Amino acid sequence: MFLPPYYCKIALSDMVSKRSLDQLNEAYCRRICNKVERLLSKPESKDYPAMAVTAKLNGYISEAHSSPGQRMKLDVRNHIEKELGGKVGTKSPITNCYNPIGNCAEQHASDYLNRKMTRAGKTTDYKMIQFSAAMRPRTKMSFPKCENCKLLFEKTP
Ligand SMILES: [Zn+2]
Repeated sequence: MFLPPYYCKIALSDMVSKRSLDQLNEAYCRRICNKVERLLSKPESKDYPAMAVTAKLNGYISEAHSSPGQRMKLDVRNHIEKELGGKVGTKSPITNCYNPIGNCAEQHASDYLNRKMTRAGKTTDYKMIQFSAAMRPRTKMSFPKCENCKLLFEKTP
């Protein structure tokens, strides 16, 4: 069946399944580890970012690792602070999550996706972002979303 280019593009982006998001994220974790090991002859656990994730929205892909949230773009930061009821770097009084607001790889990935969406003149629907499993690059262990990220990114937290 003939499909006009617009629909072809959507069909192709939908082919990036959850499994291949996980595969992309494993490759991202390997790049992180290679970089740490290249720069430091004896890397310690503190040299690795705690978590890394790969995210997808409307065909745009972003990868990010956990770090303090102060570098996030203002509108993403405002969105996250409003949803979680506190400032970046503090604990959310709504979720009581152990992770500081703005710290998670998922939240940084949503920031990068928002930058791409904004450049394309589109709005960011945070609840529509698909995430790979979050992985700790140093150990390759996977972790589920924390309570902050569930509230931000899942339709029914
Ligand atoms: Zn989180």
